[in-house]
Order: sequence, then C-alpha cells, then structure tokens
Amino acid sequence: MTKNPTKELGASGPCYKCGAKMFCGEGFEKKPTWQNAEGKSHYDKDGSCRGVNHAEPIKDFRNPKDQRPNDTVVWPEFGNLTDEHNTTLGEYTGVMALAVISTKTRHPNMDPNAPVFGQIVSAAIGHLLDMTKITVLREIRGQIQELVESK
Ligand SMILES: [Zn+2]
Repeated sequence: MTKNPTKELGASGPCYKCGAKMFCGEGFEKKPTWQNAEGKSHYDKDGSCRGVNHAEPIKDFRNPKDQRPNDTVVWPEFGNLTDEHNTTLGEYTGVMALAVISTKTRHPNMDPNAPVFGQIVSAAIGHLLDMTKITVLREIRGQIQELVESK
C-alpha cells in the first residue's frame, strides 16, 4: 500500500504508513480528515501516525447520534421511471422546496447543511402534506354538499 484511499467523507480504509483502519470524517474547518475509530485525527502535524496503537477500531465512546451506523441497509432499486413516478417525484421535490423556503424564512441565520435544519425541513414536509390532505377533504366536502343540494 503506497497510497491512502480517496479522502472523502464517509470513506474508510487502511493507512498507507501503518495499515491501521482509518475513517474519513469532518476535521478542522469541516475539511475531510483521516481519523481513528474514536474520531481523533490519525495524523499528527508532522505527518506521523497516531493510530499505531489502535490498529483495530476501538469502542466508540461518542454520543450514539454521532456514531456511524454499522448496519447494512438494503434500499429498493428501480428500473425505468414511469410518467406517474416522475410526476410524483416532481411533486415531492416541489413540497421539499416549499419546506426549505419556509424553514429559511423562519430561521434565516441557520446553516442549511446543519442537521437541525434538515430535521425542521423534514417536519415541514410532513406538515405540508397534512395541509394537502385538508385541502382535498375540503374539496370532497364541497362536492358532497353540491350533490346534496342538487337533489
Ligand atoms: Zn497510519
């Protein structure tokens, strides 16, 4: 091994110097940084390895919500999208955009990349979909009323 794996967030692989498993996480100024399993930088300022004593990942003492999940997710895959799928995707993207606008309006100083921003957007998407249901129910109620009055 003469080279490290590509340094991009979420990557992992052996250090080219010591062979210890490293994980690429956010370091200083959010730059991708090679880290040991406990989340500390693998390299010292002089370029020497700090990970020699931790050749195997050690217990992760970080807050559970900051730990990398080690389960494997099997996401469904799709072949070609039908027109109906594309319509649904377009509508979903529209709702998401509205949620982002609403969140930015209410939290103008929040970093859109912050996890909290994403959580608020996610909640806003749910609220917008609830609003859609209310609109549809109102329409149905109006149609029923028209039917009843026409008799
Ligand atoms: Zn190393």
